[in-house]
Amino acid sequence: TQTDREAAQRAYDLDRKHVFHSWSAQDTLDPMVISAAEGSHLWDGEGNKYLDFSSQLVNTNIGHQHPAVVAAIAAQAAKLCTIAPSYVNDARSEAARLIAERTPGELDRIFFTNGGADANEHAVRMARLHTGRHKVLSAYRSYHGGTHLAVNITGDPRRWASDNGSAGTIHFFPPYLYRTAFHSTTEEEEAQRALEHLEQLIEFEGPSSMAAIMLESIPGTAGIYVPPAGYMQGVRELCTKYGIVFIADEVMAGFGRTGKWFAVEHFDVVPDLLTFAKGVNSGYVPLGGVAISPEIAATFGTRAYPGGLTYSGHPLATAAAVATINAMEREGMVQHAASLGTDVIGPALAGFAERHQSVGEVRGRGVFWAIELVKDRATREPLAPYGSSSTEMNQLVAACKSRGLIPFANFNRIHVVPPCNISVEDALTGLAILDEVLDIADTYAA
Ligand code: PLP
Repeated sequence: TQTDREAAQRAYDLDRKHVFHSWSAQDTLDPMVISAAEGSHLWDGEGNKYLDFSSQLVNTNIGHQHPAVVAAIAAQAAKLCTIAPSYVNDARSEAARLIAERTPGELDRIFFTNGGADANEHAVRMARLHTGRHKVLSAYRSYHGGTHLAVNITGDPRRWASDNGSAGTIHFFPPYLYRTAFHSTTEEEEAQRALEHLEQLIEFEGPSSMAAIMLESIPGTAGIYVPPAGYMQGVRELCTKYGIVFIADEVMAGFGRTGKWFAVEHFDVVPDLLTFAKGVNSGYVPLGGVAISPEIAATFGTRAYPGGLTYSGHPLATAAAVATINAMEREGMVQHAASLGTDVIGPALAGFAERHQSVGEVRGRGVFWAIELVKDRATREPLAPYGSSSTEMNQLVAACKSRGLIPFANFNRIHVVPPCNISVEDALTGLAILDEVLDIADTYAA
């Protein structure tokens, strides 16, 4: 209606005047107004409908406005909006139980945070105090959050501007056969050589100074790199051998995204700390946390843990988590995500890789996939340079939007990351749009 359009225009004008946006040059922005959302769909200020193949920042794992979660938030708001972390709260207790039941091994103690970055900050703090050591190893091609330590641990260009004053954060090359740093020709070689590189780094940096290795179980924004067989087990063994705390960052990969509750389950490893956020309640209310092993929890049994947050285990956020996890269970969303990966998205992307000369590689699991675009399949020259975009990539994103699809794009990649409960029909609609857009990408490729 006319009133809706006016409201959208007013929101836009106020945004441009007063809102300071993340990771952006403010004057160059032209953000989209979203006036409504439901399930896997969004509507802009003009009333145009879009299919969301991004799950926003890969967090709306149950889609938008799930009625059970909306009702649970409303019920909790009516009952008790907020309470300090030192008190017992039923929503928080139940959320902790539901999360602890799903995390692997005995990661049964949950420290709640406001999101993913602070979950990772606290995991590192726990690891440092538990080991009495300082250094933290993490991978290139990773993202761990935007706060000071988390962005220093991050292994992508978002770190560069803030990479100062956080001593002892060290990066290594993770496995990535398509652009191997180890001259490997097979996945086996890549896994083995990446592990040798990591062990050498540990030896040269000094195992006795090493508190933690932090790894995304399947790196997300950096490119969705499913680690080859044996790699994650190898990292687990190195951590055990040298007394290093293994922190698995499941902020993006967790809560059904890869077709399992947590991505570490694909590799049969149990980390010492597991961090989560995003999918825990699909971002309906900000929430993150750290799942803690009994050994590390015991370190803080008689000695106080020096850390906390006003909103740790916020009732609205944890009530949303309880309703989200129960809805995911009841509606079989994790299994649905797994079968979308094996039966729908995986085969479609494999077809793209065969038919489109702009597609260098496709990879992923569940509803967590990347299409890596190249100018030349032989040289593997990316369609946008590392750390940057290109006119071509911008045109592809625009082509998706003009066809009613919101993609997730990063450098030379388009990620296929819809909600875990997207219908097969909607998934096929989005994939057909991507197929068309890749025809345009092919015209850029040699
Ligand atoms: N870790 C990973 C793997 C992420 O993908 C993100 C966010 O994209 C974060 C940490 C940071 O989470 P947040 O933005 O909630 O602080």
